[in-house]
Amino acid sequence: MEKLLCGIDLGGTKLSVGLVNPNGQILDKIIVYDHPGMNEESVVNYITQLVRQVISANNLRESDLEGIGIGFPGHVRYRDGYTITTSNLKGFKNFPLKESLSRNFSIPVKLDNDANAQAFCEFKFGAGRGYDDLIFLTISSGIGAGIVLNRKIYRGMTGTAGEFGHTIVDPQSDYICTCGNRGCLMGCACGLTLPQMFRKKTEQGIKTTLPLPHDFDFSKVDGKMIKQGLDIDDPLSKAIVTDCADYIGIGIYNIFQVFNPPIIILGGGLMNLGEYYFSRIKSKFYELARDMIYDPVEIVKSEAEADAGLIGAAALLLE
Ligand SMILES: [Zn+2]
Repeated sequence: MEKLLCGIDLGGTKLSVGLVNPNGQILDKIIVYDHPGMNEESVVNYITQLVRQVISANNLRESDLEGIGIGFPGHVRYRDGYTITTSNLKGFKNFPLKESLSRNFSIPVKLDNDANAQAFCEFKFGAGRGYDDLIFLTISSGIGAGIVLNRKIYRGMTGTAGEFGHTIVDPQSDYICTCGNRGCLMGCACGLTLPQMFRKKTEQGIKTTLPLPHDFDFSKVDGKMIKQGLDIDDPLSKAIVTDCADYIGIGIYNIFQVFNPPIIILGGGLMNLGEYYFSRIKSKFYELARDMIYDPVEIVKSEAEADAGLIGAAALLLE
């Protein structure tokens, strides 16, 4: 029997642990939401317990697994297996996550950034199947990315390559990114910025047709609400989505010029904004790339979607 893979998607709200076969199919998974707030050692012990649980629930032994892959929502020092920093979880500053987890198991453990894991999932099993090179961009509360070159994840010197969310697309922007810089792609076009955009457009006099109370709390604005606005043709929601899509279009144009990839895959929660958003991204890209496209470049939506993090983490063992 071919050995199974164990994937762990350690998110800011959700922690998934699953068994995945070498074809990228999830055989079983456990999802929990009570890990935020725990310290690093407790998270390690919790993950250990969940992995053992899923192994025994399937009448397996540790030796039936190829290893354990874990996707982390932040910067990772890949070769040393350290987490450097994260804005989604408490702690994990320069924490030896790989080694801490390895101590509890006899099989190999691999640790990488979650967007790298998702990119590798698309490469092995999703929209990037059959390509040697691809760029994957995830657009949700933040913006992350993964680079696959010559069928391998490109990680750079430290392991933090692919942080396109922090490339600067508008130095005069009103929006300050979580990193402190003005006009990062993430600051201009991610979910976290939607409340500020909504306030700014309201102050500019654009009226929303969304039914909101007079004392509306702008911090409640999120992708779901903007999608509702789009569905009823709300001019304010549409203006926000147009701006966001244009910035993503600029972002993937820059990516195209740097890497000349045959395919760029877009995933993450904000892709649920729908067809107007996606087609506006593409039209901005083509408007900028004009006659500099010499071979077809595919711009497509992620196929693995919600399970990409889990499957991708497991697939790290196949790299
Ligand atoms: Zn930034």
